[in-house]
Amino acid sequence: MIRNVLCKRLPIRLVVFDADKTLWDNPNASSLELPFKRVGEDSLVDARGNRLNLFSGIRELLQVLRSEGIVLALATWNKPEQIKEALRILELEPFFRYVAAEFHPRKHLLLRKILKNLSDEGTHLKPEEILYVDDRDIHLKDIRKTVGRVAFLQMWKDVTHPNEILSYVKNTNLKNPSG
Ligand SMILES: [Mg+2]
Repeated sequence: MIRNVLCKRLPIRLVVFDADKTLWDNPNASSLELPFKRVGEDSLVDARGNRLNLFSGIRELLQVLRSEGIVLALATWNKPEQIKEALRILELEPFFRYVAAEFHPRKHLLLRKILKNLSDEGTHLKPEEILYVDDRDIHLKDIRKTVGRVAFLQMWKDVTHPNEILSYVKNTNLKNPSG
């Protein structure tokens, strides 16, 4: 987490999540075949019986972040059909203000889209107000080049449980009050 401590931060107002291996255990939601069926609070199966399970603590994390007034968005290198359906069937849609699901690795473009969309709605954010959470750091360089100094947490490396993301946001916002 050193890489975030070194630069001056602002309160986190937006958290952008990756999906595969960050929100859920399935490594490639695009490979799942529609239709999906919900098989538990946090699980679904696809038409061929492949499972997708939300990681334990993710739903609670999304709930608390949202109740704290943090804007949530999804940026995922996946086919939009599968992502939309997975979010719908697991009742996760209401948590995300914006879902950017496109089948290419240029995640910085997805972040740009998210910010443009929020800006059009009147929410103007500085890069230092954004936390990006992903299980891989391969997109970070391009994101910081095009968007700016977003904070970053690598899932399962910087944090070992979703509630540590909440702690990071709370600590950051306590140490860096707005205004
Ligand atoms: Mg991932």
